[in-house]
Amino acid sequence: MPVSERPAPRNTGGRATPDEPARRLSAHVEAVALEPGLHLVATPIGAARDITLHALDVLNSAELLAAEDTRVMRHLMDIHGVPLRGRRIMAYHDHNADRQRPAILAALREGRSVAYASDAGTPLVADPGYRLARDAAAQGSRVHAVPGPSAALAALSLSGLPSDRFLFAGFPPATKAARATWLRQWALIDATVILFESPRRVNQTVEELFEIEANRIIVVARELTKKFEEVIRGTAAELVADPRMQSLKGEVVLVLDRPAPAVVDEDQLRSALQERLRSMTVKDAAREVALDLGLRRRDVYQTALALAGRGAGDED
Ligand code: SAM
Repeated sequence: MPVSERPAPRNTGGRATPDEPARRLSAHVEAVALEPGLHLVATPIGAARDITLHALDVLNSAELLAAEDTRVMRHLMDIHGVPLRGRRIMAYHDHNADRQRPAILAALREGRSVAYASDAGTPLVADPGYRLARDAAAQGSRVHAVPGPSAALAALSLSGLPSDRFLFAGFPPATKAARATWLRQWALIDATVILFESPRRVNQTVEELFEIEANRIIVVARELTKKFEEVIRGTAAELVADPRMQSLKGEVVLVLDRPAPAVVDEDQLRSALQERLRSMTVKDAAREVALDLGLRRRDVYQTALALAGRGAGDED
């Protein structure tokens, strides 16, 4: 509409509001001939409405349906009014995967479309489907992702922790000794780390992280997208003392901040650089020392240049 025909804005006390209240809209589930291949369908991790329209299209049209838990898929289809149309849902889970995989691979070789979903979230992420996708790709079948919910990414996005570089480490091992080594290994890396954990063991894991670094920020994301969703943030020391941690129930993701930058005294930095500058260029010495001491290469380079008696513009 031309600018002059726009209705005058209402006085909302300085607060911008939409011109009309939201209306109920209809969203269509398509009935299209699906491309042949394996369609890995992400499904909700809690709220059923987190299903995508694309996921419903695929569940509606796929010639063969396979699921980690057939009842869960059936229930999801019922909720969203997607009919089975005489299709059987094949079970594909950790205990029968080797037996079931050949039938699915054969259907793919015949040019059929197969939809696979795990119990919740994105298949293959701490869930079955990896070998199926691997073998499907190896035999030349197309593998399609139908992206959607993922507990790991949901927790990362609300954690408030840096998301530029992160590592998903899955579930910690159950035995104490193996867990301690495993946690130390991931706690050292320079990235935000995402872990899945059972609510029975989450306190133990937080205590072990407290032993590694009491000041490390940890975010506990529980029951995401569900009625009792809860997010607890704090240092390991704060979480160990937090009464909310004593009665955690439901599904839990832990997100750990990266290690604090190393604090190195000037003398240590200078002597490390001087030693290397005897046999290396300024650039190489700075790179090695930065890596060894966990410092920013740019800062170390400035000190290396000063020690070598060169200006910032000088080349090696
Ligand atoms: N494939 C799934 C995904 O992409 O989210 C993850 C499956 S894994 C077997 C299950 C674990 O995911 C749970 O033990 C928990 O750590 C995490 N999880 C799943 N749903 C969750 C939720 N609603 N809130 C918090 N964590 C959840």
